[in-house]
Parts: sequence; structure tokens; C-alpha cells
Amino acid sequence: TFAGQVADGSTTTTMVTHFVLVPMMAQGHIIPMTDLARLLAESGAQVSLVTTPVNAARMDGFVAAVEEAGLPVQLLELPFPAAEYGLPDGCENMDMVPSKDLFKNFVEACGALREPLAACLRQQRPPPSCVISDVMHWWTGDIARELGIPRLTFNGFCTFASLARYIMYRDNILEKATDEEEIISFPGFPTPLELPNAPEVCVFQLETLYIESMERMTGKKVWTVGPMCLCHKDRSTMAARGNKASMDEAQCLQWLDSKEPASVIFVSFGSLVSTEPQQLLELGMGLEASKTPFIWVIKAGNKSAEVEEWLAQGFEERVKDRGMIIRGWAPQMLILWHQAIGGFMTHCGWNSTIESICASVPMVTWPHFAEQFVNEKLVVDLLKTGVEVGVEGVTQWASEQKEVMVTRNAVLTAVSHADE
Ligand code: UDP
Repeated sequence: TFAGQVADGSTTTTMVTHFVLVPMMAQGHIIPMTDLARLLAESGAQVSLVTTPVNAARMDGFVAAVEEAGLPVQLLELPFPAAEYGLPDGCENMDMVPSKDLFKNFVEACGALREPLAACLRQQRPPPSCVISDVMHWWTGDIARELGIPRLTFNGFCTFASLARYIMYRDNILEKATDEEEIISFPGFPTPLELPNAPEVCVFQLETLYIESMERMTGKKVWTVGPMCLCHKDRSTMAARGNKASMDEAQCLQWLDSKEPASVIFVSFGSLVSTEPQQLLELGMGLEASKTPFIWVIKAGNKSAEVEEWLAQGFEERVKDRGMIIRGWAPQMLILWHQAIGGFMTHCGWNSTIESICASVPMVTWPHFAEQFVNEKLVVDLLKTGVEVGVEGVTQWASEQKEVMVTRNAVLTAVSHADE
């Protein structure tokens, strides 16, 4: 309960709880936080969502939707010191960081928001009651201490993945493993878990068993909130999540309406994965060979001249009766919830994974980095709601990758088996 009534003699005072939400500035972190803001506000709390100008501009749809619903949610916009930290001007979101080397600068620039945020929160009325901040914003703990209020850590990973990561760091598992080919196991993990020894792989289930273990091992309380995506009751608020879609949503839905139920495969790798041209061509040829209708999202950052030329010189023409390409940002939830969708080829980001599970769409798993490989284990081995495409290695975030990790034949095979 977020709003309480206090009886004081004949008068009654209403206490409004004011939550301050501080997401990491990456779409996979911001989107579930905007859903959380909505849920808290619907329960009677006041919510302030901390952001920066470039990210605020991407939240127009969310702001309009909460305003229309009359929900007490405000954006607290703080200038972001990109240039001071050696980042390109306006680089305010992880999907804008040009190379992996600059990630550290980005995290430090986020940390520089500590003083401005503290100053801004001191002036808030009603005063903040609780800070909920991304696990990466450790520095918000100091602000909460100064204000004398609790800080809850928001971790966008599932507990399966978080527990694996906790054990990995607690036991220094990666340091002990000497051989890169070594398969490492996780002592104390409630179900057997073995993963290849690659630092990017070893970070991360529905979920009780793992929550109990997590609480026991860390000595901390875990609240599992979600699935956040289910807070949406209509298409318009679904469509308002994240960036503005780069195509006409009605046209996309109309196209899906023209397809048989559960016939279309949706291919999208979230907000951060960048796919090299050779890999994109290989993926496209696999999709073409499968003869399955598809929606394929090619992110703006992956639009190389080579890929554009290949798409324009025949591919789009050859698949025009059954393929839709979205260049940029797709209204993912609207698409996943459409009855024509029969499969989701995904990078196994946790938001995408849980959205697919909630929409009852089987997955073709194609993890790239971070905890995505652990999420794949959950989906394929434990939940059995997906098939692996068969990734050969880790694709580093924001780094060039010349190798093809998945062949067209692997795409063809996985798409053919997705609904089995
Ligand atoms: N998303 C979207 N359209 C896109 C790409 C991503 O709506 O074109 C949303 C997707 O529905 C999910 C989030 O962005 O809510 C991506 O989060 P996830 O954890 O799956 O991956 P990340 O982007 O963090 O790698």
C-alpha cells in the first residue's frame, strides 16, 4: 500500500508516498522502469522518474500516456555531462556510446549526476520517501542516506541470472578457470548449471527456487516485480514504450492481420546489439530460404551501405509477399501480442524474453553478450519454450566483429523447428 490514511482526532491526513525512480540510461533498463512508474502511480503513489534531455525526448509517448490516464508521474530532467567525460555531444543513452572503450566514461558521467540529483530531490514536495535505482547507479545510495530514506536496487535481470552472477563473483569462478574452453559449474546453484568459460557469457528462471537461494546466499530481501509488460491494458500504451516506432504502427498491424495465425517469425535483437553486415546478409538468406513470413528489425546503427545495397538489389523484391523489414525501432509488444506471430528470434535480453513468454510466443534464441547466454539456458533447457539457433561465440557489445557467428543454414533449421 503506497497511500495511507492516518486518523488524527477528527481530521484525517492522507500521506502520499513519493518514489524517485533512477533508471540506467539504456532502453532495456528505462522501459521496465517506466512500466514500474505506471504501476506505482496506479497504486496511489507519486512518482518522479529521473532522466536527461535526450532520453526525455524519447519518452514523449510515455508522458502523454500517463498524462491522459491522470497518473501523478513527473520527469525530473538533469543535464548530462557528456562532453566533460569525453563522450560525443548528446551521447546520453547506452545505445549511443560509440565504442566499448567509452562505456567507462558513460558510467562515470552517470555518477556525476549525484550532486545535481541530490540538490533537485532536496527541493521536491512532497519530499521523496524512497529511491528505486538501477543496480548500476550505486551512487544513489549516498543520496538516499543523506535524505534519510530507503534505497531499493532495481535489477533488470531475472533471479536465475542474478544468482549465477552472484556465485560467479563470490567464488571468483572466472579467475580460477584457466582454460578458455573449460566448462565451468556454479557451486550451490539450485539446479545444475554449466556454462562455457567466457567472461561475457557467465552472467545469469521462473523462479522461486532461485529467489530462495538468492535470499539465503546474499542475506538480502528480493522482491520480484513483474512481468512489467503486463501492466498495459491497451494497444496505445503498449506502443508508447521506448522510442517512437520508425514505421506506421497501423500499417504493421494491418500487414500482420493479412497473415495466418502463428505463421510469422519476428526477428529483433533489442536496443544494444549491433550486427555486422556479413552476419545480417547471412541471417537474411536464412530467412529467405525458410520460406516463412517474417518481420525483421534492422537497427538504425546497422544500416551499412553494403546491407542497404543487398536489400535493395533483389532481397526485398524476392520476399515482398511475406517479409517486412523495419529499419530502426519496432513496436515490439504490439507485434508480439499479434495472433499472426508464431516465433521470436531474440537475443535473449530479459525484457524481450519475458515479453515473449507473456505473449506465449516460442523463441529462437540467439544470445550475443552479457547474461543473454544464461537466459538462453533458462528458455531452452529449463522452460523449454525455445530452440537454440546455435551461436558459435560471443559478440562483444559495441565492438567490431568480422566473423559470422550463425550461418544461414543454422537460421533455416532453427526457424523450421521454432514451433515444434
Ligand atoms: N524494444 C522495442 N523495439 C525495438 C527494440 C527493442 O520495443 O525495436 C524494446 C523491447 O520490447 C524490450 C526492450 O526494448 O522491452 C529491450 O530490452 P531487452 O532486455 O530485451 O534487451 P536490451 O536492449 O537491453 O539488450
